[in-house]
Amino acid sequence: MEALNHLRRVGAHLSLRLLPPRCLLCGAPGDRLDLCAACREDLPVNTVCCARCALPLEHPAAQCGACLRRKPRWDAAWVPFRYAWPLDRLEARYKFSGQLAAGRTLAELWAQRTPPAKPQWIVPVPLHRRRLRERGYNQALELARVLARRQRVRLRHDVLRRVRATQAQTELDATARRRNVRDAFELRLTAKLPAHIAVVDDVMTTGATLSECARVLKRAGVQRVDVWALARAPLPGQR
Ligand SMILES: [Zn+2]
Ligand SMILES: [Zn+2]
Repeated sequence: MEALNHLRRVGAHLSLRLLPPRCLLCGAPGDRLDLCAACREDLPVNTVCCARCALPLEHPAAQCGACLRRKPRWDAAWVPFRYAWPLDRLEARYKFSGQLAAGRTLAELWAQRTPPAKPQWIVPVPLHRRRLRERGYNQALELARVLARRQRVRLRHDVLRRVRATQAQTELDATARRRNVRDAFELRLTAKLPAHIAVVDDVMTTGATLSECARVLKRAGVQRVDVWALARAPLPGQR
């Protein structure tokens, strides 16, 4: 299985080098990326949102009502896209169909944007080793790799460990999501942590997973924890 995944990855890499870019969504010639200019225009951006939790809003705000009522454990969120058509198609292919070209394209689109603040380390949300074996790659880590390289920030994937294989969050409501990921992560690194870390995930919905990671890092003494995700999904029941 692992060998097969490796071959698939090498194959995807090679085909990307040899073929001219082609839009993954409509098949038109790509505009440097594997995406054409028109499809790129269609990507739903999340520029008007809460600075604290990235919830899409009518007007930008430092904090939304939910953040005022219940302060998130992290300090700031950076989530440049919304999880809607056609980005959701690319993400689903990346995450569930092993289409790494889609992941690379998403990572590039993300890395071309500027984060509100530069952390000292970028830490991807870890997968449980069983899930990692099944999928062959950690979708958050592959995105984080590109971000770290582009922003010249250290990537550390040895900071957190997922100690519990949690149920997929997709079908759960906000309370169940929180419960599902509680104590799912622990600190793996014993070395000194820097003052400012950004935790990276692919999709953020209620933020329960990122919140648990932030909790572990804050407890370990990290002063500022930002959460970064590619796309903000509507809250359960909001669809
Ligand atoms: Zn296209
Ligand atoms: Zn908010």
